Amino acid sequence: MTDEDPKTGGGGFGWNHDKPVLSVRHQFMPLDDAGESAFRLSCVVCGGILLIRRDQTTGALLRRDYCVKCGQRYVYLDDMICGEPLGDLAAEPELILVPSQ
Ligand SMILES: [Zn+2]
Repeated sequence: MTDEDPKTGGGGFGWNHDKPVLSVRHQFMPLDDAGESAFRLSCVVCGGILLIRRDQTTGALLRRDYCVKCGQRYVYLDDMICGEPLGDLAAEPELILVPSQ
């Protein structure tokens, strides 16, 4: 990628990726404004979107998530999100973000 992504507003992606992980409860977080999904949240740091991640093999919801805009990392403390159970945090791989330059 050479051109700047217009969606990031020129600031580049992931400027908060190395900030401490925020532990939150999905049920108390603001939903994304677009309202396209009961899962998607609005990043409390920058207003970007948390897409809610799934294990690519099992499809299970993952506790570790990050803002697609600022890269802020989150961990969900809930037992369930929208009726779907969350797994064991210790069993999840670390979330490694590679911000664009
Ligand atoms: Zn953000």
